Amino acid sequence: MKRIAFIGLGNMGLPMAVNLAKAGFEVKGFDTTLWAAERAAAAGIALAASCADAATDADAVVTMLPNGAILAAVYDEVIAAARPGALLIDCSTVDVENARAAHEAAANAGLKSLDAPVSGGVAGAAAGTLTFMVGGSEVAFEAARPLLSAMGRTLVHCGDWGAGQAAKICNNMVLAVSMIGVCEAFSLADKLGLDRKAMFDVVSTSSGRCWSIDTYCPVPGIGLQSPADNDYKPGFSAPLMLKDLKLSQRAAESVGAETPLGRHAADLYAAFVAEGGADKDFSGIMPWLAQKSREG
Ligand code: NAD
Repeated sequence: MKRIAFIGLGNMGLPMAVNLAKAGFEVKGFDTTLWAAERAAAAGIALAASCADAATDADAVVTMLPNGAILAAVYDEVIAAARPGALLIDCSTVDVENARAAHEAAANAGLKSLDAPVSGGVAGAAAGTLTFMVGGSEVAFEAARPLLSAMGRTLVHCGDWGAGQAAKICNNMVLAVSMIGVCEAFSLADKLGLDRKAMFDVVSTSSGRCWSIDTYCPVPGIGLQSPADNDYKPGFSAPLMLKDLKLSQRAAESVGAETPLGRHAADLYAAFVAEGGADKDFSGIMPWLAQKSREG
């Protein structure tokens, strides 16, 4: 496993491709956007003329794309061009149905494939510390291990086709609900006259403790450095969180799972994005919630 095609060189894809190149893989990248391609070339990534051109001769094809529809279109090209025995690894966050359809298309062409969405954001991508949640066969997972290890620190084989995407949307549903909970608590604490630092010191060491407060505190000047200290510049943007919440709601509907807090979190993020949150980190829902008053 030496020659890697990397398709989708955006905020996440480019640093991941750079880490593969640093680890000694021969990386050939492709992106449809000129600025992304130029940025990749400046970072030393060799560029292909198309998805098919990148995939021809590659031992593995990694994709890091915005959504399932784009993934399906890219896989049409990649599968037609890939050499027998190539391994396809999709690291994008997409819906479970498109992930399974991508696996089926690959299998029909005799190719191994994995869904391997990530957690850890742009900082984790740059540092090579991503968590990969992987769906697909044990054989494909083991074949991908050296490559995934060059981009991430934790690899979890979650199960068969689509299990990685299922784990990703469940994780992000927990994250959204916990972030909103922490923001609501700070907002209430403010109105009760409780000092924010005291609130942080108690909750981050008590039973309310969670990643949203102790690692990614949504109020400025408290706890570890986070987007709150940088005017809520992303980080992990609110529209991306909304995308993942919509994916989890769609999945919940498809299997009849009742997820009332997940649904409410999706509604709150939709309202936040529509009311000024489109270019903010997902923790920017803190000031948006705080400026609202209880009606009645
Ligand atoms: P991005 O928009 O920065 O990058 C996507 C790239 O794909 C863009 O450069 C775009 O030009 C390219 N692209 C679109 N269509 C293409 C095509 N047909 N062929 C080749 N390239 C094409 O997005 P991102 O932040 O890098 O996120 C990528 C994926 O990772 C998404 O699915 C996202 O949900 C997921 N993700 C993002 C983060 C994050 O913090 N940004 C964290 C975890 C997961």
